[in-house]
Amino acid sequence: MKITPEILPTLVNGIVEVIEGNAEEITVLDQVLGDGDHVINLQRGLDALVQQTDELSQLNWSEAFMKIGMILLSTMGGASGSLFGTLFISISKAIDTDQVTLQEFSKAFTLGVEAVKKRGKAFAGEKTMLDVLIPVSDALKQSAEAGIETSESLKNICQTAVYGMESTRDMIATKGRASYMQEKSIGHIDAGAKTSQLMICAVIKEIQQAA
Ligand code: ADP
Ligand code: MG
Repeated sequence: MKITPEILPTLVNGIVEVIEGNAEEITVLDQVLGDGDHVINLQRGLDALVQQTDELSQLNWSEAFMKIGMILLSTMGGASGSLFGTLFISISKAIDTDQVTLQEFSKAFTLGVEAVKKRGKAFAGEKTMLDVLIPVSDALKQSAEAGIETSESLKNICQTAVYGMESTRDMIATKGRASYMQEKSIGHIDAGAKTSQLMICAVIKEIQQAA
């Protein structure tokens, strides 16, 4: 499967739609555990990306990921802006060829997630977006190592993201604003985990449709 940055307008539109469709629910999640601005922050970043999709689709993957990261970093704000920005900038730095294979992307994504952990001083199990990103990077690595690039393995990666998102419900938040809630954070899904899952599954759906 060869995917070039020309797919970026389609991916961004798919993400915009799914975030729009779930905006109210995500706002409630961030109101319960945080300050309620997560969707607004993310949509500000997505609006800026939509403005630049034509330019993005002309770049190579490394340049495109760098530009996406810089746009998110400079427009989103909130903890999530610097974390999503860091993810894409680090992925960009780890990609050095134009022909990105699943193996190369998996390695780059793992390094990106490591950079998010470092930036957020956070680990798995702290009720954040990392509880989606970490298992997804592991699932990607497994598919890459097994040489599985099928629609089935893409579906598994989305399923892994859903499990990760749902796993945050029973966790106690120990990072970000939600950590002020301590035990009261149990029973609620983390907003950043929810948006990460929705975006990952939206990207997978668009890739499956394009294949
Ligand atoms: P803010 O918390 O500054 O209002 P957002 O509401 O945009 O920013 O983003 C909140 C999300 O960011 C949380 O739901 C969580 O997933 C993620 N997050 C917050 N702090 C951290 C951290 N230290 N490490 C990883 N993710 C974090
Ligand atoms: Mg917030």
